[in-house]
Amino acid sequence: MNAKRVLVAGAGLAGSLAAIHFAQLGHQVEIHERRPDPRGTGAGAGRSINLGLSQRGIRALDQVGLLGPVLAAAAPMRGRVIHQRDGELDFQPYGCHEDQILRSVLRDDLNRILLAEALEYPNVSARFGVTLTDLDRGSASAGPVCAFAGDSGPYQASADLVVGADGAFSAVRTRLLRGLPADFRQRVLPWGYKEFAIAAGPSGEVRSSPDALHVWPGDDGLIVAHPHVNGSLTATVFLPLAGERSFATLTTEKSVR
Ligand SMILES: Cc1cc2nc3c(=O)[nH]c(=O)nc-3n(C[C@H](O)[C@H](O)[C@H](O)COP(=O)(O)OP(=O)(O)OC[C@H]3O[C@@H](n4cnc5c(N)ncnc54)[C@H](O)[C@@H]3O)c2cc1C
Repeated sequence: MNAKRVLVAGAGLAGSLAAIHFAQLGHQVEIHERRPDPRGTGAGAGRSINLGLSQRGIRALDQVGLLGPVLAAAAPMRGRVIHQRDGELDFQPYGCHEDQILRSVLRDDLNRILLAEALEYPNVSARFGVTLTDLDRGSASAGPVCAFAGDSGPYQASADLVVGADGAFSAVRTRLLRGLPADFRQRVLPWGYKEFAIAAGPSGEVRSSPDALHVWPGDDGLIVAHPHVNGSLTATVFLPLAGERSFATLTTEKSVR
């Protein structure tokens, strides 16, 4: 096999995982990430976000040998518990088999584990705090070339293969489609989300059924809460961004409560 030069734009979940795969196949991998190095002091915390890891994610982690470390920090979710208005709890299992349960993980933790693993490979290098600004698709005889901007100035990097793992508003995708008769649609939901913590009880006990995703459905929005191994929960409130009952109207502590 000929080792290829693989340029990965974005070191989120997809980029870090792709980097590990290409490294394991023996390719030369360069990661270019807009955010600061998460291992340094300048790293931004970002939004926390709990993920429900399902079979696809579990299989992907298993394939690169990282399932053990991730599951060690993950709380199982055997189903969802719907909190009815009258206080009744309705448990809806995700499946009948052990491999159908979901795992609750913090996205940042998962990202750190994946990126740390990728950077263990001698054939993986990374530049942080750099933003992909342009992409030349290249031709049959010349590979793609990417342009970046960073604190130390603009630079270009060429590769045999570019992996656009730069998220929902991907610059790679925009540049890739430029001048081509390609169709692309993106729909942005008029909803937002905020997270809050539900601490464990005084003796560390869980306040509601453990091993489940908790859901409080509402007329205008909903709240979901993911469990943690320490008995606490992270709840996410989903509400419209504008309108009578929306985040726009939650401007005082009283209205938030
Ligand atoms: C509230 C919420 C809840 C969610 N819950 C779940 C869930 O339960 N289960 C689940 O599977 N998924 C869930 N998701 C989705 C999940 O977070 C995403 O699918 C996942 O993060 C996508 O990974 P990614 O690597 O493609 O992109 P990202 O994680 O967005 O990473 C993209 C990376 O590219 C970098 N980047 C961006 N632009 C550039 C550029 N121009 N140059 C260089 N770098 C760049 C960014 O800094 C970032 O590090 C949820 C998302 C949200 C918002």
